[in-house]
Amino acid sequence: MPNVELIGQSNVDTPYGAPSDSYKQLMISGVEAVFLARHGSGHTIAPHKVNYRANIWGFKTLGVERLLSLGAVGGINPLLLPGSIVIADQIIDMTTGRASTFYEIDEVYHVDFSEPFCPELRSAFIEAARAINLPVLTRGTYVCTNGPRFETRAEIKYYATVGADMVGMTAMPEAALAKEAEICYSTVATVTNLAAGISTEKLTTTEVIETVNKSSIALNALLLKTLSLIQAQRNCPCGQALKDAKI
Ligand SMILES: [Zn+2]
Repeated sequence: MPNVELIGQSNVDTPYGAPSDSYKQLMISGVEAVFLARHGSGHTIAPHKVNYRANIWGFKTLGVERLLSLGAVGGINPLLLPGSIVIADQIIDMTTGRASTFYEIDEVYHVDFSEPFCPELRSAFIEAARAINLPVLTRGTYVCTNGPRFETRAEIKYYATVGADMVGMTAMPEAALAKEAEICYSTVATVTNLAAGISTEKLTTTEVIETVNKSSIALNALLLKTLSLIQAQRNCPCGQALKDAKI
C-alpha cells in the first residue's frame, strides 16, 4: 500500500500457540494500524491450518479494536465476476475440525452471531467505496469451506441453493473469534475466480493470484479511504458481545 510506514513489529505469545506471523505496526496516512498475514509472510499456512485463535488473541493483546479482513473468494452468484469486490454481510460456516471458540473449558458463552460483521465497519467500507467511485457489492453471503481443495460442482450448486453468493476458506472461525474477543470485524472479499461449475474452466491458483494483483490498486484505495472514515469511538454493539452471553 502507498502511504504506509512500518513503525515496528512484535511477536505475541498466546495460550493457543503462535500466531501466523509477527504483527506489523503501521502508520497509514496518520492512522495507527497493525497488520497480520494470516497465511504467514510467505503464504505457507493453509486455510485449515491457520491458528485463528492465536491470531485473534494476539490482536486483542495488542489492543486492537477493529479488524478489517481481506479475503479472496470464488463467485457463486452470477453477479459476482472476477475482480468484483464484496462487502460481505452474512456467513454460512461449512468448516470442520477448526478450533472455533475461546470458551471450551469451565465457561460457556453463546455469543449472538446473527450479524457476523460489524455494522459500523461495513458502513465505513460502503461509504468509502462511494467516495472514491469504486463499484462494490454492498451485501453478500460468504460460505466458508474447509479446503484446501476447491469445491465440487455439486457442492457449489448446493451452496447456491442455500443462498451463498461466494465461497472462501478463511472467514470462519475468524469472524466468530473476533466476536468473542469483542473486536469489530468486517470482511472485504475480492472475487478471484468463478466457483466450480459456474465456470467451465479448471480452477487454478494462477487465476486467483493474477486477479488479486489486478485488484490490489482498487483495494488499497478502498482501505485507505475506509481508515479515514472510521471514528475514534466505537458506537456499535461489538464491544459488548459477551454481555448476557454467558450460561
Ligand atoms: Zn463494531
